[in-house]
Amino acid sequence: MAILVTGSSGRVGSSVVKALLARGKIVHGFDARASRHASANYSETVGSFDDPQRCAAAVDGASAILHLGAFMSWKPEDRDLLFAANVEGTRRLLEAASEAGVQRFVFASSGEVYPENLPAFLPVTESHPLNPTSPYGLTKLLGEELVQFHGRTGKMEIVILRFSHTQDAKELLDPDSFFSGPRFFLRPRIRQQEALGNHAVAAVLRAADPGQEAHVLVRNENSRPYRMHITDTRDMVQGILLALEKPEAAGEVFNLGATEPVDFVELLRDMAEVTGLPVVSVDLPGAGVCYETSNEKIRHVLGFEPEWTIKRMLNDAAMAWRERAA
Ligand code: NAD
Repeated sequence: MAILVTGSSGRVGSSVVKALLARGKIVHGFDARASRHASANYSETVGSFDDPQRCAAAVDGASAILHLGAFMSWKPEDRDLLFAANVEGTRRLLEAASEAGVQRFVFASSGEVYPENLPAFLPVTESHPLNPTSPYGLTKLLGEELVQFHGRTGKMEIVILRFSHTQDAKELLDPDSFFSGPRFFLRPRIRQQEALGNHAVAAVLRAADPGQEAHVLVRNENSRPYRMHITDTRDMVQGILLALEKPEAAGEVFNLGATEPVDFVELLRDMAEVTGLPVVSVDLPGAGVCYETSNEKIRHVLGFEPEWTIKRMLNDAAMAWRERAA
């Protein structure tokens, strides 16, 4: 029997595929994009999660499913694709899985179901109220409901993992990367805000442009710097495999992420030491981002122990930065 990994061409899914293959497992991938996992133990279905035929083909012969694929977009024009991939796609996959007699279904949810950036209390635990404020967070909450429904009414064991913000370490200092570019570099952030239609925010950022590429330290309207978890993909892989293998995980919901939140003042200082770029501070309207999410449950119940602190991630990022510059 194979383990089906959805999102097998993505950041987390591709690392999970590699880890499973290294353990000698038979793995089937399912993604809209083909991947390059060269192994006799690997096969894949290329197609969309909301296509019932592709779902049935992907699920055939699977004993367990790690549903790690999803569409991540915060652009209004992507709304239909977002719900098709994350809600309808999850429903189709669950139905195919139940029909095929899959034993365990692990679902990648997100801290945006709380949401972490508008916490009712800190640290955010699994019992925090679920009040997503973004359409993406809503699709993840609807995905959780679908997963819970199948757990209640069928025979499949289900596990829900609420993922922290996750990065490959080398992305941290890559101005072109999807998340870290706009998070830590001024001009990519201006471009991102323009694309999201946040023209007033883009104007505030543009006014801070020192005339050369720069890092950006974003703060809220009261000059409070951002503080949030950034988890290394390698630690996420560890948590996902525990959710797949540990009997105690069945039926449970876990936050999965790094133990300590990252202080952006310290991080930007350390980043600038590597890159030699100036850091500009910008105060943006609103409460900003400042949270801490507890990973105590998954550490206690499943023995999860994250190893990749932000300092260790930054060492890898610095190496990648120097390689790109060479
Ligand atoms: P990613 O974007 O790197 O990978 C997602 C993969 O899903 C991609 O390869 C994409 O091609 C595939 N995909 C998207 N829509 C599809 C569709 N309709 N049909 C088939 N394939 C489709 O994302 P990631 O960082 O690896 O995230 C993994 C999971 O974790 C996702 O479910 C995501 O929502 C969740 N998550 C990620 C973060 C993060 O910061 N990276 C945070 C919270 C939750």
